[in-house]
Amino acid sequence: MNNFLASRSQVLQKIEVACKYSQRDPKTVALLAVSKTHPSETLREMYHAGQHKFGENYLQEALDKIQSLNDLEIEWHFIGHVQRNKTKHLAANFAWIHGVDRFIIAERLSNQREDTQIALNICLQVNIDGQNTKDGCHPNDVADLVKQISQLPHLKLRGLMVIPAPDNCGALLQAKQLFDEVKQHHTYPEDWDTLSMGMSGDMVEAIAAGSTMVRIGTALFGTRDYSV
Ligand SMILES: *Cc1c(COP(=O)(O)O)cnc(C)c1O
Repeated sequence: MNNFLASRSQVLQKIEVACKYSQRDPKTVALLAVSKTHPSETLREMYHAGQHKFGENYLQEALDKIQSLNDLEIEWHFIGHVQRNKTKHLAANFAWIHGVDRFIIAERLSNQREDTQIALNICLQVNIDGQNTKDGCHPNDVADLVKQISQLPHLKLRGLMVIPAPDNCGALLQAKQLFDEVKQHHTYPEDWDTLSMGMSGDMVEAIAAGSTMVRIGTALFGTRDYSV
């Protein structure tokens, strides 16, 4: 009996209802399982419940899991803050990096991605609601960063990633607007199709606002225990 079949189908159902409500096709919203703090065996169970996209926040923890689950066809996403001295391991081991917010980081990832690997998928992280954090570029810098990053050879710039404060529905709409503005520009990147936003607490609102990838931890795995 797989414990995670039920929680996963509940989340998928919630996505479906949210899509119906906003007249969207559920196929346009991907579910990323955020598995930070959970052991490899938990991810393996979730994988067997049908989940193949996993998001991790901490590099060393993620590398250990990637190693011990290398018999599975997992698509690994890094959703944590990207530090300059960690880009080599990120470029080598992940399919997606969501937290890119400076050109120098993107440039390093592109340089360190091997020619033999397929392009690394990137989301540009935007500090959409001006939170007091170093993470995410300023909304006014998005256009220039998109222009620069989309020229790097080993990357595919897929879209934007935001983590607005809880209950800030206005910020979700602003993110969607910013995402569309890039698209309206005649030189937008050809793979510009991803708006990574929405967590367990605001996934319905995020889908209503136009999210194409929700990052869900708690609703799939239960509450996290950081003490272990
Ligand atoms: C932890 C985390 C999530 C998942 O949050 P839940 O509230 O547990 O769904 C999503 N996105 C990011 C960037 C995170 O760090």
